[in-house]
Amino acid sequence: MSQYVKDLMAEVKAKNPAEPEFYQAVQEVVESLTLVLDRHPEYRAAKILERIIEPERTITFRVPWVDDQGEVHVNRGYRIEMNSAIGPYKGGLRFHPSVNQGILKFLAFEQVFKNSLTTLPMGGGKGGSDFDPKGKSDLKIMRFCQAFMSELFRHIGADTDVPAGDIGVGGREIGYLFGQYKKLKNEFTGVLTGKGLNWGGSLIRPEATGYGAVYFASEMLSTKKQTLEGKVCLVSGSGNVAQYTVEKINQLGGKAVTLSDSNGYIYDEAGIDKDKLSFVMELKNVRRGRMKEYADKYKSAVYTELNQNADFNPLWNHKAHCAFPSATQNEINGKDAQNLIKNGVYVVSEGANMPTNLDGVKVFLDSKILYGPGKAANAGGVATSGLEMTQNSMRMPWTREEVDNRLRMIMKSIHQTCVDISERFGVPGNYVVGANIGGFLKVADAMIDQGVV
Ligand code: NAP
Repeated sequence: MSQYVKDLMAEVKAKNPAEPEFYQAVQEVVESLTLVLDRHPEYRAAKILERIIEPERTITFRVPWVDDQGEVHVNRGYRIEMNSAIGPYKGGLRFHPSVNQGILKFLAFEQVFKNSLTTLPMGGGKGGSDFDPKGKSDLKIMRFCQAFMSELFRHIGADTDVPAGDIGVGGREIGYLFGQYKKLKNEFTGVLTGKGLNWGGSLIRPEATGYGAVYFASEMLSTKKQTLEGKVCLVSGSGNVAQYTVEKINQLGGKAVTLSDSNGYIYDEAGIDKDKLSFVMELKNVRRGRMKEYADKYKSAVYTELNQNADFNPLWNHKAHCAFPSATQNEINGKDAQNLIKNGVYVVSEGANMPTNLDGVKVFLDSKILYGPGKAANAGGVATSGLEMTQNSMRMPWTREEVDNRLRMIMKSIHQTCVDISERFGVPGNYVVGANIGGFLKVADAMIDQGVV
């Protein structure tokens, strides 16, 4: 680590106590950016890096709500408006008990670079609450969403800040949030993305992050003149991203053999085919059940309960060619990364945000496998949100084929940017450097053009 990175990280830690995920995200980016700062002293002089790691605005608010038994609850709501140099703040809302300011800051920080990579005019933001939607009735979810939006509405807008879904926030939650926003503002605008199809949503938006991560893997494979056909794939998570990752792997001739939730994972050597995936979608999106039920239904599958005390995750210890981490941050550590490589995995495409910790990233980079970091590989979701915003502005929906083609082209272009930049900066094949610098340049230049604001 250079002295510059050491000094900057010491300052980040002193100014942002108890935010380890934020330090991790900043350190990974700053280490890549030293390459560009050495060539462009104007960025250092304008303190672009020091400004980019400081949110433009951090909003924290009380979310009091009454459940269907009349009990009063109090949650904490957040919106981190990180950077608006190239467009309105844009990024998801996460509802999960683990949510805190540091986690949302890491996500908002990553979002700035990711959104820039998509080539669409979107700044970066992220928000959410420590509310746990798991197992709650639709009525409870609606009451919470209405209470959350009763404060958030004054900070967002179609040209200011456009939230979307993330962990715990899917179509149902976006519906309740949008309904309350519309009631309070008395206007129907594209203020949220991930909306229902018959009220402003875009075709392919639910599929986009998972499909995009698989398109990105295909692009990486094409640099070795290979395709996904016949490839065995490990997928974690079983939510939105994981489900559509499996769907696209199947469509491209690969075989997905794992899925997980926070209780454990299933390994199905026979493959999670179309019918089994339909079962998972019904289980998770309608009945809101646990992955264990998959192994009760399909005898080809083995269920393993998560062991919180283990120093590795057995999901990443199966023979395979590709891995698509699609659950949450830091789900692959150094040992998991070594296990993956030992088992033959040479393509990792991150559907989740920062699923690999710094030790794991080092293992992937040292072993020179095809490693697509989340900022690039999962940018298809927000890119399609950008396409939803465009359709809302035009008040004209596009067809499924049109949106899917645009998504595919965007993923191709992000991949090409990563390849070109990594070559330009002397580290060919390093998609981490490619994504970090590729995302940074456009934002940094816009910040310089707009002065010190
Ligand atoms: P989701 O539909 O809520 O699904 C999340 C999945 O991950 C669930 O299976 C969940 O299991 C599991 N999970 C969550 N927290 C976990 C934890 N601490 N330990 C183990 N498993 C955990 O969310 P999603 O939209 O698919 O998001 C998954 C990842 O993709 C996140 O990192 C998100 O930031 C990223 N991402 C999403 C989008 C998007 O468009 N949705 C775009 C870009 C990136 P349980 O059901 O047991 O909680």
